[in-house]
Amino acid sequence: MAAVPSLERAVAGIKTRATINFLRDSPKKLLINGQWVAAKSGKTFESINPANEEILALIAEGDKADVDAAVTSARRAFDESKWSSITPHQRSRYLYKIADLIEQNADQLAELESLDNGKPLAIAKLADIPGAARTFRYYAGWPTKIYGETNPSDPSTFNYTIREPVGVCGQIIPWNFPLSMASWKVAPALACGNTIVLKPAEQTPLSAIRLGELIQEAGVPDGVVNIITGFGPGAGSSIAEHPDVDKVAFTGSTEVGKLILQASAGNLKRVSLELGGKSPNIIFRDSDLEAAVQSATRGVFFNSGQVCTAGTRIFIEQPVYDEFVERLIEQSEKMTVGDPLDEKTRLGPVVSREQFDRVKSYLEIGKGEGAKVATGGEAVPGAGYFVRPTIFAGVHNQMRIAREEIFGPVGAAIAFKDEDDAILQGNDTTYGLAAAVWTRDVSRALKVARALKAGTVWINTYGGADPISPFGGYKQSGFGRELGVHSLDLYTQIKSVYVKL
Ligand code: NAP
Ligand code: MG
Repeated sequence: MAAVPSLERAVAGIKTRATINFLRDSPKKLLINGQWVAAKSGKTFESINPANEEILALIAEGDKADVDAAVTSARRAFDESKWSSITPHQRSRYLYKIADLIEQNADQLAELESLDNGKPLAIAKLADIPGAARTFRYYAGWPTKIYGETNPSDPSTFNYTIREPVGVCGQIIPWNFPLSMASWKVAPALACGNTIVLKPAEQTPLSAIRLGELIQEAGVPDGVVNIITGFGPGAGSSIAEHPDVDKVAFTGSTEVGKLILQASAGNLKRVSLELGGKSPNIIFRDSDLEAAVQSATRGVFFNSGQVCTAGTRIFIEQPVYDEFVERLIEQSEKMTVGDPLDEKTRLGPVVSREQFDRVKSYLEIGKGEGAKVATGGEAVPGAGYFVRPTIFAGVHNQMRIAREEIFGPVGAAIAFKDEDDAILQGNDTTYGLAAAVWTRDVSRALKVARALKAGTVWINTYGGADPISPFGGYKQSGFGRELGVHSLDLYTQIKSVYVKL
């Protein structure tokens, strides 16, 4: 085990010994049946710090052969009832323990998240890591509350239902909120008694690997959680196709979501998909414009715009359009772009060279379509994948920058005439993940919230999710609801039992 030669440069500014020691232990391995093992092929890939483009660690490149081993291990753990048959109280205690361990290791996890993803360290500490602990703690409460029913059967029969785990769950997650996304998948699956093969995104595998260690430290039996790092085609596709995986849960692009759905047909896996978005944030002229402008800015730039619910289409009522755009520019220019480890930084780099090129290409597409760069519109020169917070004004809802998910710090300001026009334009998208409406008129707020075709609607605020409430998409933003009680539907199946009396 040896650190990559670039490690010192890659982690410049990091003080926590535990973080550096974790990264020194490279290449990172796969977790299969409670053992950390190299990929069978012996291959590795690099995990890069997007703020300085230096290599942080080498990561095992799992592929089909490793997925086969992980699925065998998860299957055995499931069939031997190492997990589903322990008492619900015990399962609950494991999940509480994982939550505690996340909190005890919060500084290290936040640093790994910031180094790997580029997000500001302060935000990882404030949002990502506590959010993951909260999700485990929320689901820790569920194992003892997963009820069946007794049904009003005819007098000669007694009929009841049991909710049972689905089995082996393949979970494929993206790079924008790596630990949070792992917790949204792993916590409810474990609460319901399933076993898991988790594949983190190639860009951000570190916090999932550390989570695997913490799950072991919590004493979860071997084989219950397996972690395969690697690429989408190879590791990801092998999970989606695997005949012995009972369910696949995916978060990522709509494009890959469609591939997952096709691959799942082989053995008719249960599928849940959390996909992209192009969410409308609708601002009426009677709203608290100061609060709206601050929230709209965060809504589009939080996590460098790499949020599936980002409020990238900012609809502004015509009479206040010019004034609001001016205020958006002012707020955007206050967003400090820079070193994620600096306390003052609000915007880190985007996650990878690929994402950087993609975002820059959309800046050119927007200019080419005739939208006006109100602020930003370019990358920051020098090392790292930094893009200036960008607002395009004079955007029409038919432009590509208003229709396609950019996943970078780029917002489009679009004017609307009246309530009907706002709803029409807001819903004129193939996506339906989130939406927001700003107004002081309660009836209007509720009417518009009802009319918007989106899985989450915010009124007079933008962004945020709580494990207590369901999250998911309408239209091509996917199907199935994660979080809240609704995740139990994804991770259990119902058996109806008839007893002849
Ligand atoms: P992506 O390819 O959809 O990645 C999501 C996850 O799926 C990753 O773990 C990925 O592995 C895996 N994957 C990729 N191809 C697969 C396949 N054929 N079978 C099974 N798994 C597969 O997303 P991306 O390429 O990183 O980003 C592209 C765009 O997707 C972004 O610009 C953004 O618009 C959108 N996106 C949306 C979300 C969201 O939360 N809704 C999150 C991320 C990205 P690898 O990492 O190894 O590719
Ligand atoms: Mg990809």
